[in-house]
Amino acid sequence: MKIIKPGSTIGVIGGGQLGRMIALAAAPLGYKTHIFTDIKNGSASHVAAKTIVANYDDKKALERFAKNVDVVTFEFENIPYESIKTLEKTVVVRPGWELLHICQNRLREKDFINELGIKTAPYKEITSAKTLAQAYKTIGPKCILKTVEFGYDGKGQHIIDENSRLEKLWNEAKMGTGILEKMVDFDKEISVIIARNEGGEVIPYIPVENIHKNGVLDITLAPAEIDLSIVEKAWEIAYKISEKIQLVGLLAIEMFLLKNGDILVNEMAPRPHNSGHWTIDACITSQFEQLVRAVCGLPLGSTDYYSYAIMKNLIGKDIESWKEFIHDSDSKIHIYGKKEAREGRKMGHITHLVVPPDEIIEP
Ligand code: AMP
Repeated sequence: MKIIKPGSTIGVIGGGQLGRMIALAAAPLGYKTHIFTDIKNGSASHVAAKTIVANYDDKKALERFAKNVDVVTFEFENIPYESIKTLEKTVVVRPGWELLHICQNRLREKDFINELGIKTAPYKEITSAKTLAQAYKTIGPKCILKTVEFGYDGKGQHIIDENSRLEKLWNEAKMGTGILEKMVDFDKEISVIIARNEGGEVIPYIPVENIHKNGVLDITLAPAEIDLSIVEKAWEIAYKISEKIQLVGLLAIEMFLLKNGDILVNEMAPRPHNSGHWTIDACITSQFEQLVRAVCGLPLGSTDYYSYAIMKNLIGKDIESWKEFIHDSDSKIHIYGKKEAREGRKMGHITHLVVPPDEIIEP
């Protein structure tokens, strides 16, 4: 196993808050961070040793970046996977391009999950108004039409029911290829973040419950209030996927828990995840430190939690509430340093630490 020792430089593709929190977690272990981003003055750059600002397909800039770092990881998925392939010629990238390629496309991702014998909501590929009408007959009456690529935080999604005018909706949606998914009547939305290193050491975090507002994560309750049998089922799914892809890094898996106890996988992210932000303040090893450990070939840290936690995203103008929470001794405030509090923009989060758990469920 190749060990990238403290003192080395970790390259992060993406300049947002996840890159910022990776850099903040890398520093105590003695690593420097270089950011590759297409935005100037992004929140990751405020805390990183160096930033290259260039387009994600700028080969020359990618080569320059690759020569200056010891390992590369990424903090978001909308990067051309060919760029990761370019980097891989010079430097080790963890996770590699194959996992990114699967997660970038909802159809590829759902095919991959089903091939492993893990369930998802029923879905069909949509390429025209005609295929939408055909798919609706088998998947309807309540469905969601999503873009196959480049959709995130509920963007590019349309709810469809008996009253929808399919042809008009398709023509106005203006998506190249879409995916029609059956609307799932879930009991809870949960997620599991799992880490694996090159040596095959693998550790999941406890499943958490996620509450969304307008398709965007609003609150995470950690751990999720679910039976131990469901915890084990969710972990089983995470172990299976991470083994199959020989994960090196972090993988977040969003799931729908049905009333009958079945679990359907919604989507995966090959990086730190918003539903893991609570781990910074409530776990022995945060998801960001765990990523650093995994990609640098270090032993993974304990995912035990020493407090229950409620994480609340501060979106847009919500950021103003830091003034109230700064007085609360049980809350930890994280502000991402973004200049403009635009509507829908993730500006920060608060982790409210609840009470020490009586007992910890060990993986
Ligand atoms: P996604 O971008 O796929 O994570 O979707 C954002 C949110 O929309 C999810 O977290 C769910 O709250 C909701 N959602 C997405 N797909 C479905 C589905 N098939 N059934 C019910 N709710 C869904």
